[in-house]
Amino acid sequence: MHDPNCIFCKIAAGQIPSKKVYEDEDLYAFHDIAPWAPVHFLIIPKQHIASMAQVGAQHEALLGRIMALAPRLALEQGCNPYPEGGFRIVVNTGAEGGQEVQHLHVHVMGGPRPWLKG
Ligand code: 5GP
Ligand code: ZN
Repeated sequence: MHDPNCIFCKIAAGQIPSKKVYEDEDLYAFHDIAPWAPVHFLIIPKQHIASMAQVGAQHEALLGRIMALAPRLALEQGCNPYPEGGFRIVVNTGAEGGQEVQHLHVHVMGGPRPWLKG
């Protein structure tokens, strides 16, 4: 369930400090260390899943919980309301997908433009 060499497993377990946005039994959310946008946080499963490429039917509920949590946390963290505001959800997957950390994470970005990237 946990990879001892995985930085996001360690963050979810509190072994590496992070700025927590949300936590429950299955999920952990925290501010990205190098934000692209005024609001930029990551939602991860506490369980080690390397990427979206490993996601299957057994993960439907977990992924559904992440996606349903994102809009609530986005507003709580300062994203402006839809439709003038909104947010961007990104899941980089694999080397060609631009994934740098090999533990599934959902980027949630928002806030007033311009952003650093994207
Ligand atoms: P990826 O490129 O894999 O989709 O995104 C990894 C993200 O994790 C990057 O935006 C990067 O800034 C963030 N990140 C990497 N290491 C750490 C860390 O130790 N703490 C936090 N809070 N974010 C990290
Ligand atoms: Zn991990």
